Amino acid sequence: MSKRSNESKEHDSSNKKKDKNKKLKIFLWYAIILVICAIIGYGIYNVINNNNKKNDLTEIKEDEIAYTDLIKQIDSGNVEQITMTVGSTTIKVKLKDQEEMKTGIIPSTQAFIELVQDEAKEGNEIELIQKGESFLAKTKDNLFGIVQIGLMTVVLVLIISMTGMGSKGRVYDAENVDEKNKVTFDDVAGIDEEKQEMLEIVNFLKNPEEFYKMGARIPTGVLLCGEPGTGKTLIAKAIAGEADVPFISISGSEFGEIFAGLGASRVRKLFEKAKKMAPSIIFIDEIDAVGGKRLEASSAADNDNNQTLNQLLTEMDGFGSEHTVIVLAATNRPEMLDKALLRPGRFDRRISIALPDMKGREAILKIHAKNKKLDNDVNLKALAGDTAGFTGAELANILNEAAIIATINKHEAINQKDIDDATKKVTVGIEKHSRVMSDKDKKLTAYHEAGHTVVSKYLESQKDIKEVSIIPRGIAGGYTMYKTNEDKYYISKSEMKEKLIALLGGRAAEKLVLDDISTGASNDLEVATDIAKKMITVYGMSDNIGPIGLNIEKDPYQLQLLGDKLEEEIGKEVQELVSNAYEIAQNLLVEHRDKLDALASRLIQKEVVYEDDLEKIFD
Ligand code: ADP
Ligand code: ZN
Repeated sequence: MSKRSNESKEHDSSNKKKDKNKKLKIFLWYAIILVICAIIGYGIYNVINNNNKKNDLTEIKEDEIAYTDLIKQIDSGNVEQITMTVGSTTIKVKLKDQEEMKTGIIPSTQAFIELVQDEAKEGNEIELIQKGESFLAKTKDNLFGIVQIGLMTVVLVLIISMTGMGSKGRVYDAENVDEKNKVTFDDVAGIDEEKQEMLEIVNFLKNPEEFYKMGARIPTGVLLCGEPGTGKTLIAKAIAGEADVPFISISGSEFGEIFAGLGASRVRKLFEKAKKMAPSIIFIDEIDAVGGKRLEASSAADNDNNQTLNQLLTEMDGFGSEHTVIVLAATNRPEMLDKALLRPGRFDRRISIALPDMKGREAILKIHAKNKKLDNDVNLKALAGDTAGFTGAELANILNEAAIIATINKHEAINQKDIDDATKKVTVGIEKHSRVMSDKDKKLTAYHEAGHTVVSKYLESQKDIKEVSIIPRGIAGGYTMYKTNEDKYYISKSEMKEKLIALLGGRAAEKLVLDDISTGASNDLEVATDIAKKMITVYGMSDNIGPIGLNIEKDPYQLQLLGDKLEEEIGKEVQELVSNAYEIAQNLLVEHRDKLDALASRLIQKEVVYEDDLEKIFD
């Protein structure tokens, strides 16, 4: 290990000077290219605008103008003047090359003014003149454009020949096109089942013509469903990276927050940009923030949201074979989405990304360990075994925290202890040595945690305990850490019952030993009640009520459907499950009081008791 790092150090110093010069050169080139790209982009934009003008005009014949049309006309610089009055949503529009004024309806004056100002800022020659309560929007002619385009073409040809950057997808817009850190499938682990579908999308982007020739319709929308941190963004980036197409991203929540009133025009621009760069990928994170079920607009914000969503639908329907743009959207709550979004031609494909299994976790850990110095004693396989239920992001986080801990402790490389500490830090929060516990609190915590452990030791499915501690971490006063050695997809009823007993062991010990109960068990009780509720309503495990499966959290009205009597029954069953578990926990503790006392006093003395010490107590 140390040998290798020495070698690379020597290599580094001899090349330092060269590297520095090289970096400076590259940086300068990038800066120049960036500036020129910006100018060129502006030029191309103008050219396209001038072309659109002729096409669009012929289509409008009536004396009214639709809102979406109006925006298109503003965009193509076709509007000569707009008059409007604050508070009134009726406006008058005069188009260039047309005699009579048109009447239009806008959603709100404020939003519209902002939109026009936005256009003006972007160099669309539109002016907004305020006269008292009235506004006047005017366009100026753009004589400058032609000269500009000529100049730019020359520069463009020069640049392309000098740098050979003919390929698509460089830096277009720092805001949301990312090409600097190219991600590939090699950076994504543990999703082998989904990979086939991802490869298919890459294929669409790479060879769209083949599919079109065959008469196939390329999917426009793919929904990536999975919990936060399961790698949805990473996968979207990897698809773009593998297909070598630009990746344009935006978050659903931005539409409402940052661009209030402008969501629809934002969507339009986003798609415009993507079409210009086609083939390309648009990634919409948190699509539920805009794509939730459309409501009867009861507030301005709802109205806004509905318009944004409508625009999104319009854009997705408008894709022709001339632009291959695939929209990837991430959500954790697909059931919340408006049905219209899921229709054929829109988001009609779905990739579900589950939490990684043990093999997947090991693969993810290996990827993130690649650029880190690990000691020989580090066992990633064991770590993968201990982290059932962790997301890819959490696993990456553990290794990163371990690297930080190793650095702070001036270790040569990350060792197993650093990784253990990091795991605890990520799961239960950081150790708080500074929080001084009174002796009384210490005793209470010791008995509480010992209660969990003793009870668990006599339950078949709960007895694998790694460590017990009364050192406060995060919000927890102490913790009992279980081993999770296998991935379980199904949990049986008896295991769930045992889990309830283990959870209530803390409170039962407090009551038994101190004849008093504390607030320390509130989280245990909450978790236990939740499990009991799910056993009866979600997993249909009640003998009396039968195999029903409800999702009350998603839809509380399901309960009403079943009537008051059943609701009462459910409440009774939940309560019974929890109190039975509590009783069993108490009985176990009475029976094994000696173990409880032994473990508690050991905890008071040492604060942490590990697996091997536990064996000694329980053998
Ligand atoms: P999401 O978009 O689902 O919330 P992200 O893609 O943002 O999740 O994941 C965050 C980070 O977690 C990634 O940048 C990556 O470092 C890590 N990660 C998540 N899943 C994986 C995976 N399957 N393989 C490798 N790294 C992963
Ligand atoms: Zn507890």
